[in-house]
Amino acid sequence: MYQKVSILIIEDEKSICDFISKTLSSSGEYKTASAVNGKDGLAMITSMLPDLVLLDLGLPDMDGIEIITKTREWSSLPIIVISARTQEKEKIMALDAGADDYITKPFGTGELLARIRTAIRHNNKIANDVVKSNRPYSAKGLTIDFEKRLVILNGEEIHLTRVEYKIVSLLAKNSGKVLTYDTLIEQVWGPYADDNNRILRVNMANIRRKLELNPGEPQYIFTELGVGYRMVEDEGL
Ligand code: CA
Repeated sequence: MYQKVSILIIEDEKSICDFISKTLSSSGEYKTASAVNGKDGLAMITSMLPDLVLLDLGLPDMDGIEIITKTREWSSLPIIVISARTQEKEKIMALDAGADDYITKPFGTGELLARIRTAIRHNNKIANDVVKSNRPYSAKGLTIDFEKRLVILNGEEIHLTRVEYKIVSLLAKNSGKVLTYDTLIEQVWGPYADDNNRILRVNMANIRRKLELNPGEPQYIFTELGVGYRMVEDEGL
């Protein structure tokens, strides 16, 4: 039988919690449960094993980061953080602690549903296709063939430096998700690299000059201000 996706909402603001529950229930694809503090939230993650968690970072009894860290000790279930616009540092901490994505208050129904779909699809992908992980990335006329290390834009091969290719392929393999500056720097230059973002920004500027029609209004790699970069989602063609 068709099973609804179960989502646990951990959020102490009742109006936000109600808005999310209603949005998700009325889509017909999801069933929800909610907790208003961290202690109940953690207990419910273990008891109900939800398919996804929506987590507010500012909880009355506990920092949401702690919930991420504790959950990541035993589970890879998708966690989307709900955060306020001014909490750049917290978003980064949450992503580095193992959150899959974040959504900034106030957010709309469409954005919420899209984030949830992406996180769940991504999680399934990781679980199901370790073998197929070299399947090419493709979106909006851009194709990246990971086996041949080829980047094709509208039929033409784009020449990227080794570092540029590494950045683009990391973003493409995690498309739809934001990767923090620190994650990218560590993955590309190693754990002992200078955590100054400058070299990453320089490379990104060069990548955009090669990929984007208008580097000021990118359509492939988006800047998540103060946090990192997100690549447009793979269309799976
Ligand atoms: Ca709160």
